[in-house]
Amino acid sequence: MTILDEQVAAPAELGVALVGVQEGSEIDLDLRFEAVHEGILVSGVATVEINGECGRCLESIAYDLDADIQELFYYEGINLPEDDEEDDQCRVIDDHIDLEPVLRDAVVTALPFQPVCKEDCAGLCSECGMNLNEDPEHHHEVLDPRWAALAGLSDNAADHAANSTHSVDREER
Ligand SMILES: [Zn+2]
Ligand SMILES: [Zn+2]
Repeated sequence: MTILDEQVAAPAELGVALVGVQEGSEIDLDLRFEAVHEGILVSGVATVEINGECGRCLESIAYDLDADIQELFYYEGINLPEDDEEDDQCRVIDDHIDLEPVLRDAVVTALPFQPVCKEDCAGLCSECGMNLNEDPEHHHEVLDPRWAALAGLSDNAADHAANSTHSVDREER
């Protein structure tokens, strides 16, 4: 059994839409290599630095992610079990194994589908795009749709609606 404990540089385009690993950033590998009958079993953890943006408020986020790695690299000449439908099985080729696809799979599957800066991120105001985490009280006066039609009848009413946040602010103080 061999232990690998070293750092490598991240390959390009390791990530999903909003989050990923910056190319060239440090990846901490802590892996065990065990010779088994069919090949080499690689297991352990790859720690990567995740960078990206919150899917709700678009603030940048950064954290460390531990991606579990467990993969059997088959020796050349070993026939795969018949029920194994994957034809891109990992192989030991010329005594070497290519960890990158395995690392890629492990990291991408561990990435959140909807990354958030914090569990209860309030996101952006759907009206004006303001970051609601900075001002949880922020809101717009919502006109009842039945009255909105009436409000459109006069210019004064339309002006009033446009200025409604300011008047609300004043009333609160
Ligand atoms: Zn956020
Ligand atoms: Zn707003």
